[in-house]
Amino acid sequence: MPNYNTRLITSRRSYLISEIASLFGIHQRTCHRWIRNDGLRVIEEDVRPLLVMGADLISFLKAKRAKRKAILRKEDDFYCMKCHKVVKAKRGSEKAVKTGKKIGKAGLEQIKRIGICEICGTKVNRFLRGVKQD
Ligand SMILES: [Zn+2]
Repeated sequence: MPNYNTRLITSRRSYLISEIASLFGIHQRTCHRWIRNDGLRVIEEDVRPLLVMGADLISFLKAKRAKRKAILRKEDDFYCMKCHKVVKAKRGSEKAVKTGKKIGKAGLEQIKRIGICEICGTKVNRFLRGVKQD
């Protein structure tokens, strides 16, 4: 699922299915599936054309995004793009490299951790904040 830009939606306006589809460049069938299977609310179910309130569309898409978002809880967690989930790196495959970039006002050094996915063997990266340098 792409990251739908919810800022394109006006919350106090109603949308036709065709308008939602063209707003995000998706097929109208995708919107109908959201209504039928994924619980996107319509203003009145038995009135055609179907209308969706902007506010409902925004909260629907935000909830959808939150459900998909991977949370890296531990320092040695990685997100594997191929497995589509949080994985650990293969033992001994992990390296930390300084990227040379500074992060934020504190000027913390950015560190890139590289590893090999323990499940599929794909290279996985993760960017971390390093320790403060003076
Ligand atoms: Zn993997």
